[in-house]
Amino acid sequence: MRVGHGYDVHRLAEGRKLILGGVEIPYEKGLLGHSDADVLVHAVMDALLGAAALGDIGQHFPDTDPAYEGISSIELLKHVRELLEREGYVIENIDATIIAQRPRLAAYRPRMAENIAQALRLSGNCVSVKATTEEGLGFTGEGQGISCHAITLLTSAADYCYDDRMEVSRCKACPGCSKSE
Ligand code: MG
Repeated sequence: MRVGHGYDVHRLAEGRKLILGGVEIPYEKGLLGHSDADVLVHAVMDALLGAAALGDIGQHFPDTDPAYEGISSIELLKHVRELLEREGYVIENIDATIIAQRPRLAAYRPRMAENIAQALRLSGNCVSVKATTEEGLGFTGEGQGISCHAITLLTSAADYCYDDRMEVSRCKACPGCSKSE
Protein backbone atom coordinates (compact mmCIF):
# COMPACT_ATOMS: atom_id res chain seq x y z
CA MET A 1 0.00 0.00 0.00
CA ARG A 2 1.13 3.52 -0.72
CA VAL A 3 -0.25 6.73 0.73
CA GLY A 4 -0.16 10.14 -0.96
CA HIS A 5 -0.96 13.70 0.08
CA GLY A 6 -1.81 16.69 -2.10
CA TYR A 7 -2.29 20.35 -1.22
CA ASP A 8 -3.19 23.29 -3.41
CA VAL A 9 -4.26 26.92 -3.15
CA HIS A 10 -5.74 29.29 -5.69
CA ARG A 11 -6.57 32.95 -5.34
CA LEU A 12 -10.18 34.11 -5.75
CA ALA A 13 -10.63 36.77 -8.43
CA GLU A 14 -13.45 38.55 -10.18
CA GLY A 15 -14.27 37.62 -13.75
CA ARG A 16 -13.49 33.91 -13.30
CA LYS A 17 -15.78 30.89 -13.03
CA LEU A 18 -15.65 28.95 -9.76
CA ILE A 19 -15.01 25.32 -10.69
CA LEU A 20 -14.57 22.72 -7.94
CA GLY A 21 -14.52 19.01 -8.68
CA GLY A 22 -15.64 19.78 -12.21
CA VAL A 23 -18.79 21.54 -10.92
CA GLU A 24 -19.44 25.17 -11.82
CA ILE A 25 -20.61 26.86 -8.64
CA PRO A 26 -22.49 30.16 -8.77
CA TYR A 27 -20.41 32.79 -6.96
CA GLU A 28 -19.26 36.37 -7.46
CA LYS A 29 -15.64 35.26 -7.92
CA GLY A 30 -13.73 32.31 -9.32
CA LEU A 31 -10.32 30.79 -8.85
CA LEU A 32 -7.40 32.26 -10.75
CA GLY A 33 -5.08 29.93 -12.64
CA HIS A 34 -3.73 28.77 -15.98
CA SER A 35 -6.20 25.90 -16.25
CA ASP A 36 -9.74 26.09 -14.84
CA ALA A 37 -7.95 26.38 -11.44
CA ASP A 38 -9.96 23.53 -9.93
CA VAL A 39 -8.14 23.45 -6.60
CA LEU A 40 -9.91 20.24 -5.49
CA VAL A 41 -8.91 18.25 -8.55
CA HIS A 42 -5.37 19.66 -8.37
CA ALA A 43 -4.95 18.46 -4.78
CA VAL A 44 -6.36 15.04 -5.73
CA MET A 45 -3.95 14.73 -8.68
CA ASP A 46 -0.97 15.65 -6.51
CA ALA A 47 -2.03 13.07 -3.91
CA LEU A 48 -2.26 10.38 -6.59
CA LEU A 49 1.06 11.32 -8.21
CA GLY A 50 2.68 11.54 -4.78
CA ALA A 51 1.51 8.10 -3.73
CA ALA A 52 2.99 6.67 -6.94
CA ALA A 53 6.17 8.79 -6.65
CA LEU A 54 5.47 10.13 -10.14
CA GLY A 55 6.27 13.78 -9.46
CA ASP A 56 3.65 16.53 -9.27
CA ILE A 57 1.14 18.29 -11.48
CA GLY A 58 3.50 21.20 -12.15
CA GLN A 59 5.87 18.72 -13.78
CA HIS A 60 3.21 16.90 -15.82
CA PHE A 61 1.08 19.93 -16.75
CA PRO A 62 3.31 23.05 -16.65
CA ASP A 63 1.42 26.35 -16.39
CA THR A 64 3.69 27.75 -19.08
CA ASP A 65 2.30 25.30 -21.66
CA PRO A 66 -0.46 26.89 -23.80
CA ALA A 67 -1.98 23.40 -24.21
CA TYR A 68 -3.29 23.61 -20.66
CA GLU A 69 -4.69 27.12 -20.80
CA GLY A 70 -8.30 27.03 -19.60
CA ILE A 71 -8.36 23.22 -19.71
CA SER A 72 -10.78 21.29 -17.53
CA SER A 73 -8.78 19.76 -14.69
CA ILE A 74 -11.05 16.72 -14.90
CA GLU A 75 -9.35 16.00 -18.27
CA LEU A 76 -5.95 16.23 -16.57
CA LEU A 77 -7.20 13.84 -13.89
CA LYS A 78 -8.00 11.28 -16.59
CA HIS A 79 -4.41 11.54 -17.76
CA VAL A 80 -3.18 10.92 -14.19
CA ARG A 81 -5.40 7.81 -14.12
CA GLU A 82 -3.63 6.56 -17.26
CA LEU A 83 -0.22 7.19 -15.71
CA LEU A 84 -1.19 5.15 -12.63
CA GLU A 85 -2.66 2.34 -14.71
CA ARG A 86 0.53 2.16 -16.74
CA GLU A 87 2.45 1.60 -13.50
CA GLY A 88 -0.03 -1.02 -12.30
CA TYR A 89 -1.53 1.00 -9.44
CA VAL A 90 -5.06 0.59 -8.14
CA ILE A 91 -6.74 3.47 -6.27
CA GLU A 92 -8.30 2.28 -3.04
CA ASN A 93 -9.81 5.57 -1.93
CA ILE A 94 -9.46 9.35 -1.94
CA ASP A 95 -10.44 11.76 0.82
CA ALA A 96 -10.36 15.51 0.20
CA THR A 97 -11.17 18.59 2.27
CA ILE A 98 -11.86 21.94 0.63
CA ILE A 99 -11.24 24.98 2.82
CA ALA A 100 -13.41 27.93 1.83
CA GLN A 101 -15.19 30.58 3.85
CA ARG A 102 -17.70 31.19 1.06
CA PRO A 103 -19.68 30.06 -0.86
CA ARG A 104 -21.35 27.22 0.98
CA LEU A 105 -20.36 24.01 -0.79
CA ALA A 106 -22.40 21.31 0.96
CA ALA A 107 -24.97 21.01 -1.82
CA TYR A 108 -22.29 20.45 -4.47
CA ARG A 109 -20.11 17.88 -2.69
CA PRO A 110 -21.87 14.75 -4.05
CA ARG A 111 -21.51 15.92 -7.66
CA MET A 112 -17.84 16.81 -7.11
CA ALA A 113 -17.14 13.33 -5.72
CA GLU A 114 -19.08 11.73 -8.55
CA ASN A 115 -17.12 13.64 -11.21
CA ILE A 116 -13.81 12.61 -9.66
CA ALA A 117 -14.93 8.99 -9.32
CA GLN A 118 -16.09 8.90 -12.94
CA ALA A 119 -12.84 10.38 -14.28
CA LEU A 120 -10.88 7.76 -12.34
CA ARG A 121 -13.36 4.93 -13.12
CA LEU A 122 -13.95 4.33 -9.42
CA SER A 123 -17.17 3.49 -7.62
CA GLY A 124 -18.74 6.41 -5.77
CA ASN A 125 -17.86 5.18 -2.29
CA CYS A 126 -14.12 5.40 -3.10
CA VAL A 127 -14.17 9.20 -3.24
CA SER A 128 -14.98 11.52 -0.34
CA VAL A 129 -15.18 15.29 -0.69
CA LYS A 130 -15.63 17.39 2.42
CA ALA A 131 -15.69 21.14 2.98
CA THR A 132 -14.91 23.35 5.93
CA THR A 133 -14.28 26.97 6.76
CA GLU A 134 -11.42 28.31 8.84
CA GLU A 135 -13.76 30.35 11.01
CA GLY A 136 -12.86 33.59 9.30
CA LEU A 137 -9.14 33.16 9.97
CA GLY A 138 -6.30 33.47 7.49
CA PHE A 139 -6.47 33.87 3.72
CA THR A 140 -9.34 31.43 3.25
CA GLY A 141 -11.27 33.04 6.10
CA GLU A 142 -10.83 36.47 4.54
CA GLY A 143 -12.06 35.15 1.20
CA GLN A 144 -8.77 35.74 -0.60
CA GLY A 145 -8.54 32.18 -1.84
CA ILE A 146 -9.58 28.56 -1.49
CA SER A 147 -7.29 25.71 -0.47
CA CYS A 148 -7.67 21.96 -0.51
CA HIS A 149 -6.02 18.94 1.05
CA ALA A 150 -6.37 15.42 -0.35
CA ILE A 151 -5.04 12.04 0.63
CA THR A 152 -5.20 8.76 -1.21
CA LEU A 153 -4.27 5.14 -0.78
CA LEU A 154 -2.97 3.07 -3.68
CA THR A 155 -2.26 -0.58 -3.97
CA SER A 156 -0.09 -2.10 -6.65
CA ALA A 157 -1.21 -4.90 -8.92
CA ALA A 158 2.20 -6.41 -8.05
CA ASP A 159 0.91 -6.85 -4.47
CA TYR A 160 -1.46 -9.48 -5.83
CA CYS A 161 1.23 -11.42 -7.71
CA TYR A 162 1.54 -14.23 -5.17
CA ASP A 163 2.93 -16.67 -7.68
CA ASP A 164 6.24 -16.39 -9.55
CA ARG A 165 4.38 -17.17 -12.76
CA MET A 166 2.17 -14.09 -12.37
CA GLU A 167 3.37 -10.80 -13.75
CA VAL A 168 1.68 -7.43 -14.00
CA SER A 169 2.64 -7.29 -17.67
CA ARG A 170 0.45 -10.34 -18.28
CA CYS A 171 -2.67 -8.52 -17.07
CA LYS A 172 -5.82 -10.29 -18.25
CA ALA A 173 -8.08 -7.27 -17.67
CA CYS A 174 -10.36 -8.90 -15.10
CA PRO A 175 -14.06 -7.87 -15.21
CA GLY A 176 -14.60 -4.65 -13.28
CA CYS A 177 -11.11 -3.31 -14.03
CA SER A 178 -10.94 -0.29 -16.32
CA LYS A 179 -8.55 -2.22 -18.58
CA SER A 180 -11.41 -4.59 -19.47
CA GLU A 181 -13.47 -1.74 -20.96
MG1 MG B 1 -3.38 24.37 -8.69
